Amino acid sequence: MVARAKRLGVHVLALTDHDEVAGLADAQAAATAEGVRFIPGVEISVTWARRGVHIVGLNIDPQDARLRAGLAQTRRGRLARAGRIAEQLERAGYPGGLEAAQRLAGNPEIISRTHFARFLVEQGAAPSVGKVFDHYLSPGKPGFEPMQWASLEDALSWIHGAGGRAVIAHPGRYTYDPTAFDAFFAAFADLGGEGIEVITGSHTPEQYREYAEVAARYGFLASRGSDFHAPGESRVDLGQLPALPPHLAPIWHDWL
Ligand SMILES: [Zn+2]
Repeated sequence: MVARAKRLGVHVLALTDHDEVAGLADAQAAATAEGVRFIPGVEISVTWARRGVHIVGLNIDPQDARLRAGLAQTRRGRLARAGRIAEQLERAGYPGGLEAAQRLAGNPEIISRTHFARFLVEQGAAPSVGKVFDHYLSPGKPGFEPMQWASLEDALSWIHGAGGRAVIAHPGRYTYDPTAFDAFFAAFADLGGEGIEVITGSHTPEQYREYAEVAARYGFLASRGSDFHAPGESRVDLGQLPALPPHLAPIWHDWL
């Protein structure tokens, strides 16, 4: 992935796996070899007002014990959920999902809905990972299991304790109403949250403008992330998004 980023013109790269920091050492080594500046990161699954949101931690110390313990606890919840998802899919006619998802994830503790989606594509349930979620794994569909993730307070305290900055990931994907959105941004700011993703592979150009305004209104630093998962599974490749609006301070402004 680092070689791909380099080839596509990226000179500063963050790896932000979901609730896991185990890949950071290899990524750092690859980035050093490729001459790419590397920012260690993580993307923490959080439940706020009964919905799931993602909080990215950037420039963290991956060795921080409290961060590692918090992520390990979150991953154990993920594994328990994976078992319940597999049971639902078996009832829907797709047995063997847990073993397949474990194989596809490599590490059983980081099984996500994406791995079950890949399994369902292998089984012919849908033509692509993106299409799986129209019929499975999303609210109201077979294979959806609600989950109580970390609290916003805990996620920010783990990130800050590890010396990092907290960033609201892809706010355009959340389904809060405008009042709840304002309360969410205010709660994040009150907890010392620093940044918000303005330009991401999950946003439309109109949302670039919308969240640039939110960043200016709350005084958040701005971030930009491809949300690249794998070739063919992501809306945009590494390094291909537009630059941040010039009036916003980037989250990395004093790291380079
Ligand atoms: Zn995310």
